[in-house]
Amino acid sequence: MIMILMGPPGAGKGTQAKRLMDKYGYVQLSTGDMLRAEIAAGSDLGKKAEAIISAGNLVSDDIMVGMIAKRLDAPDASKGVILDGFPRTVPQAEALDRMLSDKGRKINIAIELKVEADELIKRILNRAKESGNARADDNEETLRKRLDVYKSQTAPILPYYKGKGLLTQVDGMADMDTVTNQIEAALN
Ligand code: ATP
Ligand code: MG
Repeated sequence: MIMILMGPPGAGKGTQAKRLMDKYGYVQLSTGDMLRAEIAAGSDLGKKAEAIISAGNLVSDDIMVGMIAKRLDAPDASKGVILDGFPRTVPQAEALDRMLSDKGRKINIAIELKVEADELIKRILNRAKESGNARADDNEETLRKRLDVYKSQTAPILPYYKGKGLLTQVDGMADMDTVTNQIEAALN
């Protein structure tokens, strides 16, 4: 099972991925978390990614495709996988299709969590306030940039999956349990 969770920053992708992981034993592959781990480890990649992420821009497709390809080859990714934060551009989506077909696997479903911009800003500023150690990109200026980048570079993937009959839209404004129920209903 391969599920893609899509939606703008603050839509609740990470929250929902963790719930599905706990309930069904799927693995969550969050490219944002992987990049933050590289930054925390002080790796060359982390050093390169840090400024890009703080500015709200996207790390290059080559790097991200390589990162996911390696992760999908790990034994724990042979069963259920939730992709959280990848693909984020049409070239990433195309690269994902190629790497999956090489492995004889396919995407089962792409879920779009739909949330209005005002609510996203509220959630992320709240997350920054409540975290003792806020993410460098969780401030209003960078968030606005991330929202622009989502619209211009990531949202174009939605028609790509819709055309393949894989897209399900879920109301991400609903409370967390309702969102989880809607995702589970789409999975069944
Ligand atoms: P949230 O976690 O609230 O949903 P988000 O989706 O914007 O917010 P992450 O997925 O954690 O945040 O990603 C943080 C940053 O990491 C992105 O803004 C981008 O710079 C970089 N990044 C993560 N995934 C990718 C990707 N697939 N391609 C390019 N850059 C990425
Ligand atoms: Mg996230």
